[in-house]
Amino acid sequence: MFDSHAHYEDERFDTDRSELLDNLFRTGITGIINCGSDEQTSLHSLELSERYENIYFTAGVHPENSPLCGNFEDWLEPMLSHPKCVGIGEIGLDYHYDTPKECQRDVLVRQLEIADKLNKRVVIHNRESHRDLLDIVSLYPGVRGIFHSFSGSAEYAEILVKKGWYISFSGVITFKNAEKPVRVAAVVPTDKILCETDCPYLTPHPHRGLRNHSGYLEFTIKKLAEIKGIAFEEMENITTDNAKTLFGIK
Ligand SMILES: [Zn+2]
Repeated sequence: MFDSHAHYEDERFDTDRSELLDNLFRTGITGIINCGSDEQTSLHSLELSERYENIYFTAGVHPENSPLCGNFEDWLEPMLSHPKCVGIGEIGLDYHYDTPKECQRDVLVRQLEIADKLNKRVVIHNRESHRDLLDIVSLYPGVRGIFHSFSGSAEYAEILVKKGWYISFSGVITFKNAEKPVRVAAVVPTDKILCETDCPYLTPHPHRGLRNHSGYLEFTIKKLAEIKGIAFEEMENITTDNAKTLFGIK
């Protein structure tokens, strides 16, 4: 199983990070992309990728961190040339809290400019900002990546897929009230589906409430396989291959 979006730098892993990761790589996890949210977490993600053969990372500024990021290009661009860096992320828009929208859009655009210039994949975070985000990414038709833990409608997913974007599903799809993500998974073609934990967040049913980790990815893959009417192993292989193809991992 390949976890296309995780946060193992999070302090909730401080007490057992090495044992947990060693165990995950012994028991069926073949790859993890650890995503940064600012300079500190991007650097921590880079360090994890140097310690573990099967951890890759993305570096970037999360929309919630936009107001404090200053001249982030100074640290971001050098990090992107690291051999284990597979993209810029997570970046995007988040209109749930009151982080100034103008500032979020400015930081997102500057990162999309870099992705376009350096031909880097992007990991998009989108919360209650569907329309603005679609308008902005549409200005960069050459930039590709994933909408992570997808929260939009089936119609929105279809528009993105037509433009070449991949859709990543998290444990949310296993929740009892997950009608919308189930409808989305039904319309997204299998060659555009990725799966992720976003751990330590978004723990799938039946472990909701506990700290999430890549081992719980099986519940998300199982649900996706059910929706598509295929075997677990097939969905496991498809999501692994899609992640490797998109992020250029051998
Ligand atoms: Zn995340």
